Amino acid sequence: MFNSNFSENDIVAIDGPSGAGKSSISKKIASKLGFKYLDTGAMYRATTLYMIEMSVDIENNDAVTKALENINISFDNNFNVYLNDNNITEKIRSSVVVSNVSKVSSLKAVRVSMVDIQRQIASNGGYVVDGRDIGSFVFPNARYKFYIDASIDERAKRRFEEEKANGNNISFDDVFESIKKRDFIDSTRSESPLVKAEDALLVDTTSMSIDDVINFVVDNVLTKKNI
Ligand code: C5P
Repeated sequence: MFNSNFSENDIVAIDGPSGAGKSSISKKIASKLGFKYLDTGAMYRATTLYMIEMSVDIENNDAVTKALENINISFDNNFNVYLNDNNITEKIRSSVVVSNVSKVSSLKAVRVSMVDIQRQIASNGGYVVDGRDIGSFVFPNARYKFYIDASIDERAKRRFEEEKANGNNISFDDVFESIKKRDFIDSTRSESPLVKAEDALLVDTTSMSIDDVINFVVDNVLTKKNI
């Protein structure tokens, strides 16, 4: 545990590809360390939902910029996500959002706006932040950086089980293809692509349990804190 006198670089950056289990582990890591949790993927998903619901032409930069001015994303203490005060926690997991989010999040105007908000939210430190570009771009001075990976088969398996548990009727092949497509777009886009920061610790979770990953990260943070 940390006491609450955080410095601005007391940030745990958790990056990695889709389906590696970042958000489930990040929530628990935050609670064990006494940090808050910021889910940046939820912000890109919320923005995508807005663009879809308001039929914004995402090829039109002016339309995107205007839309961004009307988007207000917030969270509560139970990890619910709000878009302009509407609870959209469930909606941002829908297949229409999943299939469009990588495209929307590759837009420069969207990234500039989201990164700005992320930096404001965590400006005083004391945050676990999960995403794709957190250690490499959003918080390059974060003191604790991890890149959480797993084989694509394992990630698709985890996501498929999650979808099944949530009552969603989707085939394994569709989950696999969706992850593969997001991996490709996320890692090849020009604006802050998915990349392991040079100073991030790579954690291959393919054969690890969720608890093993959580304990590994927490132990590592606490050891580093005391050095
Ligand atoms: O982490 P999650 O699966 O919720 O992220 C959804 C999508 O948001 C990713 O596939 C990626 O396209 C985008 N994203 C991003 N940068 C982040 C977090 C998420 O581009 N920091």
